[in-house]
Amino acid sequence: MRLWNTPPTKMCRNHLLGEHAEMHMFVGCINKGMSIKGYVDKGLVDTSLIRMRHDQLAAEMARCGFSHNSPLPEFDMPAQGSVDVLANEAELARRCAACRALMKDG
Ligand SMILES: [Zn+2]
Ligand SMILES: [Zn+2]
Repeated sequence: MRLWNTPPTKMCRNHLLGEHAEMHMFVGCINKGMSIKGYVDKGLVDTSLIRMRHDQLAAEMARCGFSHNSPLPEFDMPAQGSVDVLANEAELARRCAACRALMKDG
């Protein structure tokens, strides 16, 4: 699971839908009392951004014609972790040709 926080318009369909699903997974873990410390420690999530990021991804999904029938449940967690957007953009571009192409277009 990973909160990329890169511009949603520069993400391919798989990464857009994937990150959205992962925001639900983070909240699911938090609400089940499971630890997400490993993700926090590795710079893979900033818990203060999960809701904003979910809504941003859901809006982009709607713009692209995907239906979104999954409001994010309430969750309660102090802000933890941070993500490096520029490093994440570079990592997505490295991993994914489709994301890389979208970033180049921008
Ligand atoms: Zn959702
Ligand atoms: Zn991608």
